[in-house]
Amino acid sequence: MARYTGPRCKTCRREGVKLFLKGQRCYSNKCAVERRPTPPGMHGRGRRRRQTPYGTQLREKQRIRRSYGMLERQFFNFYTKAEQAKGITGHTLLIMLDTRLDSVLQRAGFVATRAQARQYIRHGHLAVNGHKVDIPSYRVKAEDTVSIRETSSVVPQVKFRLERLQPQPVDWLAVDQAKLEVKVTRLPNREDITLPFNEQFVVELYSR
Ligand code: SF4
Repeated sequence: MARYTGPRCKTCRREGVKLFLKGQRCYSNKCAVERRPTPPGMHGRGRRRRQTPYGTQLREKQRIRRSYGMLERQFFNFYTKAEQAKGITGHTLLIMLDTRLDSVLQRAGFVATRAQARQYIRHGHLAVNGHKVDIPSYRVKAEDTVSIRETSSVVPQVKFRLERLQPQPVDWLAVDQAKLEVKVTRLPNREDITLPFNEQFVVELYSR
């Protein structure tokens, strides 16, 4: 599946919020949103636009889509599946996005960025329930075990990262740092997803 390969900080500046796409740099004073909090482009600084309801919905959708590193078609496919599923569409959409394999890897603290998670997965370093999986959008289920494959060359790198940074625990994931394993104890609910996004705008946008 295609992915965005352009400048990441530019997307944060476009959306006017930190999307945390560059690991440690996002927490430093080098963050572009803090240094230049204006939209990119030669007219970014002086431009003042009135935000229409459509514009608000579009920006919110773009923020969510970009923070999960997806292109429009794939994001819309996720939305269509969420719409067809039972429950509140917006909540289902966020839960589906957060249970992607690349999201799980990032939440567990095994990688610094979603882009790194995608690379590990595409290069075959990951296994789900003991079977190699190389699809970043693979959705995990309750009771699944995600692990870094024992023979993988990234084992020392992940161990070093975990020892150094001690990532925050996530309620629905049980991380075994010694075995480099993550057990999905249950599926997340809306309250577990702490991203500051309003998914209702996405539903309103696609329902137009
Ligand atoms: Fe966004 Fe991180 Fe770049 Fe800051 S450093 S603009 S949060 S990608």
